[in-house]
Amino acid sequence: MSHVLAAVAWPYANGPRHIGHVSGFGVPSDVFSRYMRMSGHDVLMVSGTDEHGTPIQVQADADGVTPRELADRYNRVIVEDLHGLGLSYDLFTRTTTGNHYAVVQELFTGLHANGYIVAKTTLGAISPSTGRTLPDRYIEGTCPICGYESARGDQCDNCGNQLDPEQLINPRSRINGETPQFVETEHFFLDLPAFAQSLGKWLDAREGWRPNVLKFSRNLLDDLQPRAITRDLEWGIPIPLDGWRDRPDKRIYVWFDAVIGYLSASIEWARRSGDPEAWRQWWSADAQGKDALGYYFMGKDNIVFHSVIWPSLLLGYSGTGDKGGEPGSLGALNLPTEVVSSEYLTMEGRKFSSSRKVVIYVRDFLERYDADALRYFIAAAGPESNDTDFTWAEFVRRNNDELVAGWGNLVNRSISMAAKNFGAIPPAADPQPEDLALLASVREGFTSVGELIGKHRQKAAIGEAMRLVAEANKYLSDQAPWKLKDEASKPRMGTVLATALQAISDLNTLLTPFLPHSAQKVHELLGGTGVHAPMPSIVEVDDLDGGPGYPVLTGDYTVGARWESVPLVAGTPLAPPKPVFRKLDPSVVEEELERLGS
Ligand SMILES: [Zn+2]
Repeated sequence: MSHVLAAVAWPYANGPRHIGHVSGFGVPSDVFSRYMRMSGHDVLMVSGTDEHGTPIQVQADADGVTPRELADRYNRVIVEDLHGLGLSYDLFTRTTTGNHYAVVQELFTGLHANGYIVAKTTLGAISPSTGRTLPDRYIEGTCPICGYESARGDQCDNCGNQLDPEQLINPRSRINGETPQFVETEHFFLDLPAFAQSLGKWLDAREGWRPNVLKFSRNLLDDLQPRAITRDLEWGIPIPLDGWRDRPDKRIYVWFDAVIGYLSASIEWARRSGDPEAWRQWWSADAQGKDALGYYFMGKDNIVFHSVIWPSLLLGYSGTGDKGGEPGSLGALNLPTEVVSSEYLTMEGRKFSSSRKVVIYVRDFLERYDADALRYFIAAAGPESNDTDFTWAEFVRRNNDELVAGWGNLVNRSISMAAKNFGAIPPAADPQPEDLALLASVREGFTSVGELIGKHRQKAAIGEAMRLVAEANKYLSDQAPWKLKDEASKPRMGTVLATALQAISDLNTLLTPFLPHSAQKVHELLGGTGVHAPMPSIVEVDDLDGGPGYPVLTGDYTVGARWESVPLVAGTPLAPPKPVFRKLDPSVVEEELERLGS
């Protein structure tokens, strides 16, 4: 049994989440974590909202609120979205906590002490009328590469190239149109070339990664450049060095602080658990090689941060980068075991776009459909290893043909028949070879489905579980227990139904990581009591270091089903079942397409 860290990408707190977001990082990490817990591993699943940086500052200015107020608003919205999907975070927190500030500053200090952070003078923009610094995104002008007239100071949205604001032709302030003045300014850079050897060695030793992720990451090593980790900005974490700490205009760059969230959230979880050192079981380098594993879940646009930058920070802080050094006060830290990156989901053939209304937000989705219907679609047809299109027609088809007509129908007709004819789980008197064969097939699913989830092949895993569902449906049709109604046949009817119900119980366990809400219902329909699939709760907490309180997502996941077959007990009372899944009217396809912008 291992200590398994499930480190889930941090959603940016500038708006609600749409289903494209949660199909990449959200549902796959939850399926994995639930399976690993059911298999007896000690899982720590952490994340939070990413709340610093220029985009939040810009949006807050536009809305006439402070960045903190904007972050408060969307932190809460996102917590509710993830809760609605039943994502079983041990802690979903945020980057504006006192704890996160302290951990980020500790990593900065340790990296600086080991010589992996270097100061450099660069050109920065200021507003001539106010004297304030103008962050990159506040500047626009003509792209020097493609000639697009509204390129931003950090990137051209037309050709996609990264830019520096002083490269723009006719630069102007997006706030008041004036021409910015470029002055020399000092910033800190992460010395990425000083990790080329140690990162290469680490990547060479990776096993089981998706080949495209490993290849992409290795290619990045060929062109490592120092990367700015501070910014001319007021909204962010102060730089923890003498002469810098109190400067209001210099902050740590948002990406640097956000990747450290995996560690800070683990430390916050430990502090809240009553054992402030407990995080070390997942993070301490002493624990790695023994039993600590770390899996990072994200969309493919974030691979560089998890396979190059975050490992560099960990190597540098631990004193194991190319320049050596000493571990900081947190000790030497574990690098990721695996970076699990998904591809993109599109919507009816187009990129998700909030501004063009090519979008469905999680909360709107959950107002009209069940969480497990979306979880099923994402697992069975999501962007696991290819860019994938979400269409409403395919969503309705999979819901009706697979969930309702496949799994739901097996549950419903078996339990109805048993309830009506026996009122309880019938005894399996004199089981025949065909009964035992079905139960053996389904039990093998604990190996086959489990191994596939463990290898992050969730599409194949749920496909295998649904194949076994089809096998059980065929068994029921072949045995036709509804024909065994006369007194002489009734024992055989009982045996067939007992076999079907045992298969359903085992299949329900196999489907629990994917469909936790309906798994709890099926457990109860079979006469089970207590928690089968534990769910997260939203808890209002105080900041541990005196800041304002906030909502977190957390839960007790030590309870619930294990990854094993549990024999049903004959005589357990059954109530007539209610349908577990809702059949969708095909007219919803047209309604939803009308809601989409064109
Ligand atoms: Zn351009």
